[in-house]
Amino acid sequence: MKDRVEVLLPVALDRSFTYSLPEGSEIEPGDIVEVPLGRRAMAGVAWGPGDPEVPAAKLKPVSGVFDLPRLAPELLKFVDWVSRYTLSPAGMVLRIAMRGARHVGDEPAKRAVRTTGEEPRRMTEARRRVLDAAADGMARSKADLAREAGVSSGVVDGLIGEGALTVVELPPEPIGSGLVPNYAAPKLNEDQALTAQALAASVREKAAETHLLEGVTGAGKTEVYLEAAAEALRMGRQVLILLPEIALTRAVLDRVAKRFGEPPGEWHSTVAPRRRARTWAGTASGETQIVVGARSALFLPFRDLGLIIVDEEHDTAFKQDDTPIYHARDMAVVRGRLSNAPVVLVSATPSIESRVNAETGRYKHHLLPERYGGRTLPEIGLIDLRMNPPQRGRWIAPPLEKAVRETLERGEQALLFLNRRGFAPLTLCRSCGHRFACPNCTAWLVEHRFRNQLVCHHCGHHEPVPPACPKCGADSEKLAAVGPGVERIRDEAAALFPDARLAVLSSDITVGAERMRAELTAIAEHAVDLVVGTQLVTKGHNFPDLTLVGVVDGDLGLGTADPRAAERTFQLLEQVTGRAGRGDRPGRGFVQTHDPGHPVMQALKAHDSESFYAAEINARSDAALPPFGRMASLLVTAPARAEAESYARSLARVFPGTPDIRLLGPAEAPIAVIRGRHRIRLIVKAPRATDLSGFIRGWLASALPLRGALTLHIDVDPVSF
Ligand code: ADP
Ligand code: ZN
Ligand code: ZN
Repeated sequence: MKDRVEVLLPVALDRSFTYSLPEGSEIEPGDIVEVPLGRRAMAGVAWGPGDPEVPAAKLKPVSGVFDLPRLAPELLKFVDWVSRYTLSPAGMVLRIAMRGARHVGDEPAKRAVRTTGEEPRRMTEARRRVLDAAADGMARSKADLAREAGVSSGVVDGLIGEGALTVVELPPEPIGSGLVPNYAAPKLNEDQALTAQALAASVREKAAETHLLEGVTGAGKTEVYLEAAAEALRMGRQVLILLPEIALTRAVLDRVAKRFGEPPGEWHSTVAPRRRARTWAGTASGETQIVVGARSALFLPFRDLGLIIVDEEHDTAFKQDDTPIYHARDMAVVRGRLSNAPVVLVSATPSIESRVNAETGRYKHHLLPERYGGRTLPEIGLIDLRMNPPQRGRWIAPPLEKAVRETLERGEQALLFLNRRGFAPLTLCRSCGHRFACPNCTAWLVEHRFRNQLVCHHCGHHEPVPPACPKCGADSEKLAAVGPGVERIRDEAAALFPDARLAVLSSDITVGAERMRAELTAIAEHAVDLVVGTQLVTKGHNFPDLTLVGVVDGDLGLGTADPRAAERTFQLLEQVTGRAGRGDRPGRGFVQTHDPGHPVMQALKAHDSESFYAAEINARSDAALPPFGRMASLLVTAPARAEAESYARSLARVFPGTPDIRLLGPAEAPIAVIRGRHRIRLIVKAPRATDLSGFIRGWLASALPLRGALTLHIDVDPVSF
């Protein structure tokens, strides 16, 4: 006889609670229940049998059970797993899984009318037309029916009054259902077909294995993974397609709809709450067959998940940087294992981690080395800025200018890429040397001329561009913009190519999904000749007339101490140049660089990712860097530097060092202050086979409690430093 239950609440507490159950209660793990917490009532999830040690008299009772689907055991296991691995409170992880757990019954059902078969007492011409239109027996809204029959809605009301029509309530249409596996199957080429067959076999066998689908940009990887999805649909299992960014979902939603006849469910933060609740319920009931979503879609309560696709798997946006700090690609592999579902990681430029896993046989490796349909990869030219410097105050060197001009003259499109928002990254007073810095962060303010403001890219602080130097009073002519941002390249492009229709794509200018969609459509339809953009334009988009991509500053990402700098830069530049020549005409890419001999530049030029990966993997292996060794970062923050430092030092003092597991730091984080909080960092380095989460848990068990305004962020397997 069960008299108690353990309940996990979606809050930042590192524990669950035991509640008593009324006699005869049917509550099972996974049920969503209401319980008292202090004076509040809260929704939580029945998690286990409850603590037998607590005297029954001390227990408060579960106050209710929601009429919502029970969460499957594998989802509960997944939440526990992510919590343990990331060292985040399980309640914080559960919170993600409950984001759509709301009653959808509350939604007003759509009202519609339908014929009853009765004749009205009096028949008129208008009434006849209405009844003819409704004769198919389908329910439709009053307005639709009146419009179809060409009458006023009063006529419809009259027929309702006389019982010839009846009002019915339509349940909302299910989301992401009615997909047909063979709706519009493409004819695959040989490479594609072989890969698709291998993936489909894995889906059929419910093999909990991971595939790396690597193929150049435009190889037709999407077509291939949709065939694997078709196989899951045939088996009646569900499919999750994860994307790194909301901006990419539109294109993939459209492709799923084209391939399977109906759109899939969509899951990310900008989907309306009610629609999210229905998608959540649809995944739980099994009605929703495919979901395309951002990383949090991993926590949807799928009834029978049969396949997970992680598209653009190398993208660091898969890493969530707030608690729980988790990497959706890595957690997808875990979720797949718990669901007996294969996971397919997809990229033209895989992460070093996935490449190594493929090479050691841990993942199955599939290669699509050529573009689909005989298209060629863009020819890449390196522009040596030391030999071909741009004019003073300009950033587009003569060879790039010439290439853009030729492209525009041929009636084709060009893209200039600079991964830096705003007009200039630094503003300087030429009289006194004053530099404009953020009052809250150790960072320069970036001039955004479009908004006429100086902006901090770390905390969002902004102020109007001042009319004079605040330090020496020199007037605004003395204030110099130093270095280029994307807005400045836009101005330069407008001056060089005054007849070109220009668009700027940057997250602070192209605000909102609608605007983004409109801009992408304008580019795809060639309503724009020249695009100037940040990394917003690099991913996944298909612009058929785009034949030239110019990278304004190829060296931008290489100057940092981050061990992943070369990998990141290679991925970014290969992706962005890969936008060129996806249509019928061949494309070209130009990369402006001060270091054309750099391995990244050489690999890009030769389309030789193999040697790049080989060299990079060797270097990582030699230095025991991930994935050959493991790392975690612990970031201590506080409003006062001394407070953060002394806590970090107290952590270091109790570090249970072993010859293998080493502590680096504490030291100031690369950005020492953000939002007025000082940041002190400790890094743990350990051999590959270490249970790093377990080790850190043991370490922190002997740490002092966090007091006052101190915070501690733990990042296991950080993606950037
Ligand atoms: P990737 O995802 O590898 O960048 P896509 O799947 O987007 O490549 O394919 C590139 C282009 O080629 C798309 O326009 C796609 O529709 C087309 N394509 C790829 N494979 C096929 C195929 N088997 N049949 C018809 N068109 C295809
Ligand atoms: Zn000054
Ligand atoms: Zn700031």
